Amino acid sequence: QGAMSAFDYKDVIQEGDLALVWVSRDNIKPIVVDPKAMFNTRYGSFSHSSMIGKPYGSQIAIRTKGQNRFSFIHVMQPSAELWTLSLPHRTQIVYTPDFSYIMQRLNCNPSSRVIEAGTGSGSFSHAFARTVGHLYSYEFHSIRYEQALQEFKDHGLENVTLTQRDVCSDGFLIKEGNNTSFDFAKRSIKEVNIHANAVFLDLPAPWDAIPLLDEVIAKNEKVGVCCFSPCIEQVDKSIEILEKCGWKNIQMVEIQGRQYESRRQMVRTLDDALERLRDVKRRKEEGIERRKKMYDAVLKDEPAGEDSIDRPQPPKTKFNPFGKGIRVKEGDEHYQWKQVTRVEPEIKSHTSFLTFAFKVVDKTRYLNE
Ligand code: SAM
Repeated sequence: QGAMSAFDYKDVIQEGDLALVWVSRDNIKPIVVDPKAMFNTRYGSFSHSSMIGKPYGSQIAIRTKGQNRFSFIHVMQPSAELWTLSLPHRTQIVYTPDFSYIMQRLNCNPSSRVIEAGTGSGSFSHAFARTVGHLYSYEFHSIRYEQALQEFKDHGLENVTLTQRDVCSDGFLIKEGNNTSFDFAKRSIKEVNIHANAVFLDLPAPWDAIPLLDEVIAKNEKVGVCCFSPCIEQVDKSIEILEKCGWKNIQMVEIQGRQYESRRQMVRTLDDALERLRDVKRRKEEGIERRKKMYDAVLKDEPAGEDSIDRPQPPKTKFNPFGKGIRVKEGDEHYQWKQVTRVEPEIKSHTSFLTFAFKVVDKTRYLNE
C-alpha cells in the first residue's frame, strides 16, 4: 500500500484533509482544510480552524449574523457516495443507485481489473477505485483528462491509470508513448497487460468501442460489460454488436431509485367526519349572525366596526383530525394510528438503461470441469 488516499478512513479532521461540508441534503461542498481559510454560507462564515482536531461527523455551530440564533454544518469524511453528491460537475455523472448495482452485477472485488470509458467527472471512477484492484479509465476530451488526472493525484487514487484516448477509433491498448498516467519509465514493459475482467462504457456510441475490447479483456475468466445509455435506440444498437462479438447473457435493466419514508397516519373514523361537518356548520351560522349584527349597527349609524361587536368565541375544537384544532403529536397513544409509507421522489439518479453482457473467451477450463 502506498500513501494515504483522501478516501481512507480516519477519525479526526486535520489540516490538509479533503473534507465534505454538509450544509443540507442537496448542498454538500468539498473543502481542503486550511487553518487560515473560512467556509462561507449565506447564514455566516465557519473557520476551518474550528474544525481541526474534531472527530469527523462533528457539528460546527456559529451564531448567525445579527440574530441570536445558531447556524450549523457537519464536516464529513469523504466517501465515494458523498463525493458523487458534492463533486464539481464537468459532465453528466453516474449516481450511487446505478454504480452500486453495476459493480455488484460485474462482480467487482479487490482482484478486479476494470476498464471505464469515458472518465467524465470521475464520479464512478472514485467508486471503482475504492473497490477494485485496478481501474483503467479513458477520456478523450483533453481538459477533462487533465482535470481528472489532477483530481485523482490530489485524492491519492493510486490504483487508477488514466489515458487520453478516443476509444471508439483507437481502442484500449496502452503503449509506451501514449498520453497516459501509466509510468513506463518505472517498468521494463512497452505495453500494459490490462486483462480486464469488467468493463463499463458510458459513451454516446458504445457499439464502436465494443469490437475493440477483445484485445484487452482477460481470456481465461468470465468478463462482464455494462453499457450505460439513455435511449432505447442506443441499447438496441449495442445489443446487436454485443451479439455479433460473441457476448452472451445479454440483459437490460433500469434502476429507479426511490427512498421510502415510514410514518404513522391518524385513523379517521366516520364519527370524526360527522363532527367535522357539524363544526363547519356551526362556524358558518356564527359567521352569518355576526355579519347581520354588523350591518344592523351600520344601518343604525352606530360606531360599530367588526371589532366592537361581541364576537362569540366558538368552543375550542378539541380534536379535529382534518386540519384546524389542537395539534396531535404523531403516535399519541390516545388516538389510533396506522403505519404508512411515503415515497420521496427526488433521489438523485440518472435514468439510463444498463445493458449487461458476459463473455468467456477461452472455455477449456470450463469444459474440463
Ligand atoms: N461516468 C462518468 C462519471 O460518472 O462521472 C461520466 C461520463 S460522461 C457522461 C462521458 C464522457 O465520455 C465525457 O467526458 C466524454 O468526453 C467522454 N467520451 C465520449 N466519447 C468518448 C470516446 N470515444 N473516447 C473517450 N472518451 C469519450
